[in-house]
Amino acid sequence: MLFAGIAWTATGFEVAFHDEAGAAPPGFTAGAAGELVRRLVDLDAATDHQLVCVVDSTQGMVDGGLLSHGVRVHRADPWQLPPRPDFGSIDAETLAVTGARHLADLPRLVLAEGSLTARDLASGDPAPATDIPARCADARRCWSRLEALPEEKAVALTFDDGPNPPWTDRILDVLDRYEVPATFFCVGLQARGHQEHLSRMSAAGHTVGNHTWSHPLLTDLAAAEVTAQVDRTSETIALGTGGRRPSLFRPPYGVSTATPSPPGQGDSAMDTVLWDVDTQDWAMPGVGAIAGAVLEQARPGSIVLMHDGGGDRSQTAAALPVIIEGLLARGFRFVSLRGHGAVPGPEAG
Ligand code: ZN
Repeated sequence: MLFAGIAWTATGFEVAFHDEAGAAPPGFTAGAAGELVRRLVDLDAATDHQLVCVVDSTQGMVDGGLLSHGVRVHRADPWQLPPRPDFGSIDAETLAVTGARHLADLPRLVLAEGSLTARDLASGDPAPATDIPARCADARRCWSRLEALPEEKAVALTFDDGPNPPWTDRILDVLDRYEVPATFFCVGLQARGHQEHLSRMSAAGHTVGNHTWSHPLLTDLAAAEVTAQVDRTSETIALGTGGRRPSLFRPPYGVSTATPSPPGQGDSAMDTVLWDVDTQDWAMPGVGAIAGAVLEQARPGSIVLMHDGGGDRSQTAAALPVIIEGLLARGFRFVSLRGHGAVPGPEAG
């Protein structure tokens, strides 16, 4: 077997290989998830599927893309690893060697459960350093529906984990065609290499929110790490959106930590936005299933969770026109989440 440790840093991804027979290829760096996944999928095919990828729980950017192509991915958890650097995951070499030495102890990820495979946050997960799980750090500033618009048939479409070409472009094209505003919760690792997508979103009137730097399970991070994830991502997004820092935050997996609450303090504090309609599009259940989930579950004020990032989003892009036309036929209108009263003050709801 050939073990690939996948690390993230302030500038992208690093991959290191370890082969017990000593024939490991040289490692490489990648600026964004799409490039990294393509190279590892090719390598997996070239090695007769002997590749075993190892990630830690501080990133959830690449497992979906790898798993959907049949590449084996295992996760090493914090209690199985040495301390992390101030900003970044465990280094790639350590992850590769950990995979080689302790593979039987590392959960193998499955597409249907993704990065959270074998982590049960609701009951006795061994990791949390903070007193969670809490769905939101501060319930007064946490929204899963458009409570301010109860009388209106308004729906908000949201797309997470990008920018991720070409799927983000396809989704933006569809939104343009129907003149539908939406909200994109972007991760810093993807945003830094795809600034033109942030500019396009902003120019088209879409809202750009903060979805952390590396898509970690926040409950595994110290408070200072959470703050660094959020702040760096806001700075990176602002570079692409004309200086506008995000006012909305969505925690990866919808799981937030008790501290800090909420991300950003004082004037820079952000509202946390979850969802009430989950398409599960990341598991690639089919175009019909994705569209059906929205058309069956959407009600006035719904916030719909979809993804432009995290892998092949062809099904999401194909489902989007069906979703938009179906909701329009039912009398809904579309809103983006930022400002405009779409996300209410604490007195509402
Ligand atoms: Zn996400």
